[in-house]
Amino acid sequence: MHDKTAAPENQHLSHRTAWLRAAVLGANDGLISTASLVVGVISAGGDAVLAGIAGVVGGAMSMAAGEYVSVSSQADTEKADIELERQHLANNPEYEVEELAQIYRERGLTQELSHQVAEQLMAHDALAAHTRDELGITDQLQARPTLAALSSFFAFLFGAVWPLLAAWLNVTFLFPHPLITIAVGTAIMLILLGGLAAKMGGASVTHGAIRVCLWGLLAMLATALTGRLFALVVG
Ligand SMILES: [Zn+2]
Repeated sequence: MHDKTAAPENQHLSHRTAWLRAAVLGANDGLISTASLVVGVISAGGDAVLAGIAGVVGGAMSMAAGEYVSVSSQADTEKADIELERQHLANNPEYEVEELAQIYRERGLTQELSHQVAEQLMAHDALAAHTRDELGITDQLQARPTLAALSSFFAFLFGAVWPLLAAWLNVTFLFPHPLITIAVGTAIMLILLGGLAAKMGGASVTHGAIRVCLWGLLAMLATALTGRLFALVVG
C-alpha cells in the first residue's frame, strides 16, 4: 500500500539546514585561517602556539562582530519596514486590501478570489499578512543579531582549535616535521567539513570536499612561503 499522505522522500534542504551550513562554513574559516597563520609563523621561526591563540581569539571576535553588525542592520531595516506598513494599514486600509489582492493576482488568483483571500487574511492578522506576502519577512527569517554573533563565534572557534592543537602538540612533543603534521591534520578536517557542507546543501560531497581542501592547502602554502621569505630577509 502506498500512503499518499506520507512526506515525499526528497525533502527540500535549503530552509532546514541553512543555519547548520552557515556554522560549518564558519568552522571552515576558523580552520583555514588558523592553520595558515600557524604554518606561516612556524616557517618564519616564530612562536606558533602564541600566534595561534591570538589568531583564534581575534578571528572569532571579528567573525562575531561582523555578523552582529550585518544582522543588526538587517533587523533595523525589517523593523522600519514593518513600522511603515503598520502606519499604512492604519491610514489607508482600503488601499492595503487592494494592494494585497494585487499580489495574489500576480501569483495566479482570480480577481474575486484574490479579494476574498486578502480580506480574510487581513481580518485574521493584517500586519502579519502584509509583512509576509508584501515584504517577504517571516518569523523564521526575522534577524537575531546576538544569536548570529554567538553562533559565528563558536563555529569559528570549533574550526580553529584543531590546527592550534596540532601546533601545541608539535611544540610539546617536538615532532620532526611540524608543517606536514599540521597540513595533513588540517586537510583531513577540511575534507570532513567541506563534505558535510556540501551534503547539507544537497551538492556533490566529493566536489565540496576537494574544493575546500584545495583552497585550504593553497592558503597554507601562501603563508608558508611568506613566512620563509620573511625569515630569509629579516633573519
Ligand atoms: Zn501593505
